[in-house]
Amino acid sequence: MLSDFINFDNAWSVALFTLINFLVIFCRYVLVSSIFQFVFTVLLKDQFKSRKISEALQKPGQSVKEIQWSAITSGIFTVSGVGLIWLFENDYTAIYTDFSEYGLWYIPLSIFIAMLIHEAYYYFLHRWMHRPTIFKKFHYVHHNSLVTSPWTAFSFHPIESVLQALIIPIILIFIPMHFAAILFLLTLMTITATINHLHIEIYPKGFTKNWFGKWWIGASHHSLHHSKYSFNYGLYFTFMDKWFGTESPDYMPLFEKKTKG
Ligand SMILES: [Zn+2]
Ligand SMILES: [Zn+2]
Repeated sequence: MLSDFINFDNAWSVALFTLINFLVIFCRYVLVSSIFQFVFTVLLKDQFKSRKISEALQKPGQSVKEIQWSAITSGIFTVSGVGLIWLFENDYTAIYTDFSEYGLWYIPLSIFIAMLIHEAYYYFLHRWMHRPTIFKKFHYVHHNSLVTSPWTAFSFHPIESVLQALIIPIILIFIPMHFAAILFLLTLMTITATINHLHIEIYPKGFTKNWFGKWWIGASHHSLHHSKYSFNYGLYFTFMDKWFGTESPDYMPLFEKKTKG
C-alpha cells in the first residue's frame, strides 16, 4: 500500500515523501494552534476572560521564536515518521492495515495502551530533563515560555524533539496498531499539547472531580509546570504525578478558581 507512495530505493521519492510529511506535520500544528488561538482569544474571548490562567504578558517576539523551534521539531518528527514507514516496509513493526485483523474493539484499546506507555516514558524523560545540567543543555528552550500559548506546543530544542520522537516507533515495534489509530494518536497529541499550553482553562467546572477529568491534564495543570518547574511533569494523564508525589498542591485550587464563574 505505502509502496505506491514511496520507493526507498529512489532518493527523489524519499525526498518528496519527506517534504509532504513535513508539510502535513507542520501545517497540522499551525492549523490546530490557530484554531485554538482564534476560538478562545477572539471568538469566545469574553466568555473565557476569567479563565485566563494569569494576566502576565508573554516575552516580546515569543510566538515567532516558538514557531521557529516548532518548525525544527516538525522536521525531526518527520524524520521519525519516515523512519517508521521504512521500518514498516521492512516488516520491523507491529503496524497492521486490515481492520479485521484485531477487531474494531482493539482500536481504542491500542490507542489507550500506547498513551500509557508514552505517559510513563515522557514522565521519566521529563523529570530527567529537569536535572540542572540537562535543563541548561536543552529543556530550557521549552521553559523560555513562562506564559505559554498554543504556539508553545512544539517549541523544543532539537535534542528534546529527538528524545520525544523516539518513543513512537519503539511503541510500534511492539504494540500492534492500525494506521488509522496511529494517525488519531498523533492528532490527539497535537490537540492536547495545544490545550495544555493555551493558558486558558477550557474544561468545565467540576471536571477534575469526575472519573475522566481526575486523570486528565489541562491548561491549569501544565501552566503550573511552566511557572513552578518542579511539579506536574505529566503529558496526557495525572496518574504519574499523583503516584510519584509531584502533583502541584496549587493545581486543584487553581482549577476551581478558574472554573468557578
Ligand atoms: Zn519541563
Ligand atoms: Zn510545556
